[in-house]
Amino acid sequence: MEDRQITPAVPGRRDCAQAKVGPVAIGGGAPIVVQSMTNTDTVDVDATVQQVKALADAGSELVRITVNTVEAAAAVAVIRERLDGLDCPVPLVGDFHYNGHQLLSDYPECAEALAKYRINPGNVGFGGKRDTRFSTMIEVALRYHKPVRIGVNWGSLDQALMARLMDENAENEHPRSADTVMREALVVSALESASRAEELGMQAQDIILSCKVSGVQDLIAVYRELARRCRYPLHLGLTEAGMGHKGVVASTAAMGILLNEGIGDTIRVSLTPKPDGDRTEEVIVAQQILQALELRAFTPQVTACPGCGRTTSTVFQELADEVQKFLRHKMPLWRRCYPGVENLSVAVMGCIVNGPGESKQADIGISLPGSGEQPAAPVFEDGKKTITLRGEGIVEAFKERLEQYVERRYGKPD
Ligand code: SF4
Repeated sequence: MEDRQITPAVPGRRDCAQAKVGPVAIGGGAPIVVQSMTNTDTVDVDATVQQVKALADAGSELVRITVNTVEAAAAVAVIRERLDGLDCPVPLVGDFHYNGHQLLSDYPECAEALAKYRINPGNVGFGGKRDTRFSTMIEVALRYHKPVRIGVNWGSLDQALMARLMDENAENEHPRSADTVMREALVVSALESASRAEELGMQAQDIILSCKVSGVQDLIAVYRELARRCRYPLHLGLTEAGMGHKGVVASTAAMGILLNEGIGDTIRVSLTPKPDGDRTEEVIVAQQILQALELRAFTPQVTACPGCGRTTSTVFQELADEVQKFLRHKMPLWRRCYPGVENLSVAVMGCIVNGPGESKQADIGISLPGSGEQPAAPVFEDGKKTITLRGEGIVEAFKERLEQYVERRYGKPD
């Protein structure tokens, strides 16, 4: 059967510089990196370690943590040490606003333990203070050989810059809309800050840029412009994407278009979790975006039909759900034991109309009986029917079959 592997991963822009965040390469032809951010109080070391570990286990290749107080700065090295003790080497990125210059200077262990510093040029102070604080952060980054992300956000855009561009715009013969000026201000803020960092001695490959906005069309316009005007690696994400379906769809719509154009070297999906929600959801959505675009493969994909009037029992939904959970549960182990298993395709289909056809296309698939059909579920492996499952234990029997298939196909020969 034809090999449907997606690897090697399709890289982001090949013509931009490549940054190294710890051992993780960003840009310059490297696979697009998935990252995430904790929402624990960094001072709460136990909770932060637990969440960073969960995010890393879910597949986050970088994890950002808030460093907003002296207590948080003091906790960073402890968190790093605890993660290392758990054999969790995921690089930590420090998120700084307002007082980053002070915290990085006063807590050298923090500066050392972090793999990258995020600097928001809109939040480093005003006037002369702004320049001094920004310079201090860059100097610390140079001292500890750390890359930085210059992360502009439309909610905290440099107001002096915005006022300057608005004034210039007002004097134009054909003034542009306020929205266009705002987009331009985001791009200029990132580019001017990056130039300043280079003047202070930073190498271009140690600078990653982002310009986050919450509107889909704004994000597309801003990143196209940013990609056109610079060769720094780009961190892509829709800020304040929102909750639930809205957040997932808006992030996917915006990032899908840009990634498909080769724009974006590392991504984060900023979802607002439900109060008891699982933070790792943002990692799974980011992976799914990259996998759906066939840019990277992370986990076996389950093709399931939507069901219709021909599937009147819930067996089909239960099986599709069980198989998806089973794959996610198995992946941390399978990833280590069965190289390439992330490319596996599985089909779970509801009836005879499309079931056998779709199942034959997958590496392994099952076609459940629809209403009025014989109570039998044929299983297809590599395009051939191998067994027909019947009775109460179909779900367990199919999972067993799936495990045997993975072992046979991806297991190392003795
Ligand atoms: S495969 Fe069968 S059950 Fe599934 S959507 Fe098509 S007709 Fe309906």
